Amino acid sequence: MQIETATAASSKTRSLRTRTLGIALLGALLMACAGSPSRVSTDTGATQRNTHENLNAVLWFQDAAEYQAAVIGTYANASRALNVARRDANFSAALEQPTVQPGLRQAVVVDIDETILDNSPYQARLILNGGTFDETSWRAWCNERKALAIPGALSFAQAAARNGVDIIYVSNRDVSVLQATIDNLRALGFPNADEKHVYLRDRPRGWGDKGPRRIEIAKTHQILLMIGDNLGDFSDDYKGTAQQRLALLNEHRHWWGERWFMLPNPMYGSWEYSALEYDYSLDSAAQYQRKTGKLRPAQ
Ligand SMILES: [Mg+2]
Repeated sequence: MQIETATAASSKTRSLRTRTLGIALLGALLMACAGSPSRVSTDTGATQRNTHENLNAVLWFQDAAEYQAAVIGTYANASRALNVARRDANFSAALEQPTVQPGLRQAVVVDIDETILDNSPYQARLILNGGTFDETSWRAWCNERKALAIPGALSFAQAAARNGVDIIYVSNRDVSVLQATIDNLRALGFPNADEKHVYLRDRPRGWGDKGPRRIEIAKTHQILLMIGDNLGDFSDDYKGTAQQRLALLNEHRHWWGERWFMLPNPMYGSWEYSALEYDYSLDSAAQYQRKTGKLRPAQ
């Protein structure tokens, strides 16, 4: 009986050890996968998924703590930088404002989409409907006034306003959605959500590039910081090849994190148009082909 008990106990111990070892190995495998830059794929090619090009990007934007950490940290750093900048009467974050006239109000110039407002629900809708971006569905979404606030943006903007710094919104949303945009910003509690402080595309004079609007703003405001998710939110020289865009980045290397703050947006941006070589005539299949052609696989 004792022997049987001992045998049973020994067997149970072995079973436990085996199970523990199995769990440890599984844990190690999962950790290895999690830490690996490219995950293990079980896709043999025979079971290709019908995956939307933007699935991972939108999922990351909506659900990843990593995304939120990046944007919250960026806005926290922007707050610290603003506290330094607003004490310097000669400081400007705008290339269009090489000297600062005395007596100006102070401002932070921010982009709107994926900088202040989170439009990932629109992007998620496109994925689930199998669609791609188009102006009609985009304007319909803007008119719904349902965009959320980017994490960290609201507290940053409100703190700036409390310190007498205006928030000026410079966006390439079409002017036809101006009121909807103002309503959306105002409902979320953003300061300066009015016609005077929201500069959309075509307003006031048919501008797509943001530089001319910054020139206008620089007449009334000392531009202390600029925040965006796109190179074009900082300079009008953003429409080049990937190498030219990197050169622009490096030309102003010391401005990043000091007066220019970039938020991550893997869903879309001028980087994508650069990859497509600014060929707006490409259909979806041709775009896919051009993008995959830009990849640099391991040799
Ligand atoms: Mg944007």
